[in-house]
Amino acid sequence: MPAVTADTLTLPRLEVPLAGADSSAPRSRPVRSITTAPDGYEGEGFPVRRAFAGVPLADLDPFVHMDQMGEVDYAPYEPRGTDWHPHRGFETVTYIIDGTFVHQDSHGGGGTISDGATQWMTAGRGILHIETPPEELVVSGGLFHGVQLWVNLPSRSKMVEPRYQNLDADLVTLVASPDGGALVRLIAGDLGGHRGPGSTHTPIVVAHATVAPGAQLVVPWDPTFNALAYVLAGSGAVGDERHPVRTGQLVVFGDGDTVVLTATGADSLDVLLLGGQPIREPVVQYGPFVMNTKAEVQQAFEDFQRGVLGTVPADGIRPFRGRRS
Ligand code: MN
Repeated sequence: MPAVTADTLTLPRLEVPLAGADSSAPRSRPVRSITTAPDGYEGEGFPVRRAFAGVPLADLDPFVHMDQMGEVDYAPYEPRGTDWHPHRGFETVTYIIDGTFVHQDSHGGGGTISDGATQWMTAGRGILHIETPPEELVVSGGLFHGVQLWVNLPSRSKMVEPRYQNLDADLVTLVASPDGGALVRLIAGDLGGHRGPGSTHTPIVVAHATVAPGAQLVVPWDPTFNALAYVLAGSGAVGDERHPVRTGQLVVFGDGDTVVLTATGADSLDVLLLGGQPIREPVVQYGPFVMNTKAEVQQAFEDFQRGVLGTVPADGIRPFRGRRS
């Protein structure tokens, strides 16, 4: 269960506008595709679901990649993270729903991400970073659930200075559906006049919704954005057609003014809602780099080898291994 909860009856309401883009009634976005994320391993061996696998980049644009980390209840000495590695040409957004990651980068950023906090790192021209569970969590084990999302940068912004935003859990904008049956945590962008704390290079929305069993959430959605819904936990129905969805499935919606989600299981439905204005440029992703051309990716590898993307600080943290019992 997500660490950040609230009494939805006391929150501002997420109202659906009376009219859609062409001043007729708002149109619910139809479901274009539903895909199931395959399991994989990331970094030093932590379990992930590859949320976007098999989905054309044009449908994802401006997003590139997403891993769901957990939800997992680790045994002692089981938690794993990543060691130091580079990025260039995009942004990594790490949202920790439950549990803790510590992180540090070669640009002077660092800190703790836990229980509803988001680390928004603009790699831009280049950065090295590490994300790893803290020593006490490695020793104790425990609940861990999070998401890492890659947001593309347009060609004009790929080589910007690296930047770091620490969006603590208490900065997240909380809104509720009109009947209080759904809680929406708005991390970045604008939904129905409410604004999330994240600052973005192109217009996007990142939000985490929890829909109570039996409840329905109708989310006003910018008609110029694409619309994606990834099921973090639970089961439900999407769109007016009520297509069934469950944990680990990604929904790509077609055009329209609203996104409709219904929780149909015995437990709450947790969904990550994503959308943005498509960048519509060529995307060449290889390993940790997301550029416009193969030559730019090659250059990124060469720059990384030469230390241009940064170096591990002298006091750089290291993955904690400890001793297995
Ligand atoms: Mn990374």
